[in-house]
Amino acid sequence: SRVKIAAGNWKMNKTATEAVEFVQALKDKVAGADTEVITGVPFVCIPSVKKAVEGSNIKVAAQNMHWEENGAFTGEVSGAMLADLGVEYVIIGHSERRQYFAETDETVNKKTHAAFKYGLKPIICVGESLTQREQGVTSELVRYQVKIALLGLSAEQVKEAVIAYEPIWAIGTGKTATSEQAQEVCAVIRKVIEELYGKDVADAIRILYGGSVKASNAKELFTMPDIDGGLVGGASLDLDEFDKIVNYNK
Ligand code: 13P
Repeated sequence: SRVKIAAGNWKMNKTATEAVEFVQALKDKVAGADTEVITGVPFVCIPSVKKAVEGSNIKVAAQNMHWEENGAFTGEVSGAMLADLGVEYVIIGHSERRQYFAETDETVNKKTHAAFKYGLKPIICVGESLTQREQGVTSELVRYQVKIALLGLSAEQVKEAVIAYEPIWAIGTGKTATSEQAQEVCAVIRKVIEELYGKDVADAIRILYGGSVKASNAKELFTMPDIDGGLVGGASLDLDEFDKIVNYNK
């Protein structure tokens, strides 16, 4: 069966100094968790956070990457650079990146390929806006987003990928999708993966829910059959909240 994931997405929060202090305290709290623990930190925090979590069960994710290895792309960071720092995961295509930084399904696909090329596991974000949900196109949209994101990957790669279903209307709004709503879309995602890559791959891939996950709703969400954990924004910045989310089953 699939190992659950509790992944924090810190977004643009915490200096490197604050980040080290946080993960040092988190280490002891989450040691021995059954859940795979990931912290998605700002680029500038990565070297010191990697050092601070050495020997612990905390893995580190970047929040973005460029698809080229190097070159004239001012301000960008490549997969080769992240791999060199020992980063394990990279969040790709977060709705904030799509909205504010013009990322598209096509750039998500390029970045996903590049992630695997450098040995990074992608956490690919998909999800609908409130208007799209009200218009009844959620399933269609999410199927399309997943299909394009994974285009051209091998079955072995897709097994190692992580998909995060994050309804945009639930992000940072305090408005969580109900566990039934979240389960329904995560099941749609697993189904499209089964259609494209077969049952083995669909059974192996981890699908997360994201959007106002907190200690008080983690268990209800994470125990749904097709939800393999969460991608957590705001609540991942708080030590006690994130600890309780990681250890939701205790
Ligand atoms: P919140 O948990 O703050 O709603 O953010 C969710 C998110 O965007 C995680 O990537």
